[in-house]
Amino acid sequence: MNDDGLRVGVFVCECGKNIAGSLDCQKVSDYAATLPDVVCSVVNKYTCAEPGQQEIKRHIKEQNLNRVVVASCTPRMHEPTFRNCVSEAGLNPYLMEMANIREHVSWAHLNDWDAATQKAMDTVRISVARAKLLRPQEEARIPVMREVLVIGGGVAGIQSALDLADAGYQVHLVEKEASVGGIMAALDKTYPTMDCSI
Ligand code: SF4
Repeated sequence: MNDDGLRVGVFVCECGKNIAGSLDCQKVSDYAATLPDVVCSVVNKYTCAEPGQQEIKRHIKEQNLNRVVVASCTPRMHEPTFRNCVSEAGLNPYLMEMANIREHVSWAHLNDWDAATQKAMDTVRISVARAKLLRPQEEARIPVMREVLVIGGGVAGIQSALDLADAGYQVHLVEKEASVGGIMAALDKTYPTMDCSI
């Protein structure tokens, strides 16, 4: 793909005071606006809220963005939210990148405003660079059968096979030895009941 024509939008989230209380979000946004291929950079109070998402969608359409960077919290929390958001604006969901300036920056550096701001700027710069390398992805859908293969007929394998069978799966249990039981089968008695192990 020809990288000419990259148009990156950066959205810096304040998360109320969660981020804005520990670093200068406007300075981070202003810095992001100076990075190559960044065509817009804005600050939102709560980017995951409806107004924040509408702001992203509006900029995608008005600025013809083809990459989006959301500088906010961990992707574990809102990556699906923002992928869905950019997708609704017509952008492939895998052309969105997140910069974690909350858990990795504001929460980790509560009392060092200047250093936290600098680290947030670095984090956003890295995410913008990564976003420019993103390529559209299509999610493949593959039909699956409700059948499983369990390898090893020790205690763990037997129990897994039983649990999966109870859950409605057809189970194929494979054991390399002549009988199942594994190490347990070699024990005479087991603590604390001293029962036979099999
Ligand atoms: S996107 Fe994340 S950082 Fe921003 S308001 Fe929502 S939870 Fe807070």
